[in-house]
Amino acid sequence: MRNKLNVYDNVLDLIGHTPLIRLNKMTHGFDGDFYAKVEAFNPGHSSKDRIALYIIEEAERQGILKPSDTIIETTSGNTGFSIAMVSIIKGYKCILAVSSKSSGDKIDMLKSMGAQVHVCPAHVAADDPRSYYQVAKQIHSELKGSVYINQYFNQLNIDAHYKTTGPEIWEQTKGEITHLVACSGTGGTISGTAKYLKEQNPEIKIIGVDAYGSVLQKYHETKEFDEKEIYPYRIEGLGKNLIPTATDFDVIDRFIKVTDEDSAHTAREVSKTEGIFVGYTSGAVMQALKQLNEEGIFKKEHLVVAIFPDHGSRYMSKVYSDKWMEDQGFFDSKKSASETIQYIK
Ligand code: PMP
Repeated sequence: MRNKLNVYDNVLDLIGHTPLIRLNKMTHGFDGDFYAKVEAFNPGHSSKDRIALYIIEEAERQGILKPSDTIIETTSGNTGFSIAMVSIIKGYKCILAVSSKSSGDKIDMLKSMGAQVHVCPAHVAADDPRSYYQVAKQIHSELKGSVYINQYFNQLNIDAHYKTTGPEIWEQTKGEITHLVACSGTGGTISGTAKYLKEQNPEIKIIGVDAYGSVLQKYHETKEFDEKEIYPYRIEGLGKNLIPTATDFDVIDRFIKVTDEDSAHTAREVSKTEGIFVGYTSGAVMQALKQLNEEGIFKKEHLVVAIFPDHGSRYMSKVYSDKWMEDQGFFDSKKSASETIQYIK
């Protein structure tokens, strides 16, 4: 008989329980204490591991998923990676419809995890038959023994964060959290986490981060779906051109918008100053903290938690590529490419 080993049965046992790490440099001079919930510590390197595991296990519990069935999803990349990872361990097939806006790295990563990938045009309406929503629905309707995760319209997306991310943050901050700042894409992360936190303390302020080119902030403020708000932007995974039912607008106090350019520079700054290698939307969240600080909303006694959704390694051909930054026009006389590489001839 072997002694009890200090090991994990498989990679899924490592999902969740991500660390809360103090921001030391980025928030220098801000009033209050600031911590990042660094979701890149999940084994699939993003917050989406939580919903992939939760939704698939819920489908198993309900007897909807049978061995060797196929799991289908629309995804900007992270959810797909997480679903592919869970599918490998649990023995399901995985088909993913992704937006052409997703980085080539992300798409190659999905293929590396055994998924079948359909790349769909990014700048078409959500109801266009070529959109990644419609492509996924079509495959699901034609394929017997398939389950469509449908993260934008699945209440379980909220529940996953209500059951895990919310309690973790409450426990890690010993109930002292005063503000949560998080991106809103499907809205699952912010809605589930906020719902749990507000049940513990209704005074906690919940601030969603939205993109210019997305309808979320205006919808929250006016309950009007304004198509004029929609135009292309570069940040992947943040903001939306539709209203997801996985967003509970009632638990969100306000939204704040950030630009592609500011978020890209701020992501690079977080990596260089905090030593936490973050993705594009983490840069967006940090950018939101800067803007909120300029508004003067933070006070000395505040404890602010920002959720950093994924890892910088997914953006090597985007935010961390000097060429990409230059091509977007993100470098000017004030902000230029890093001069830290020296080529020895
Ligand atoms: N950041 C990234 C990189 C994402 O992929 C997503 C998910 N689309 C989000 C943030 C937003 O998370 P949620 O969908 O839970 O709102």
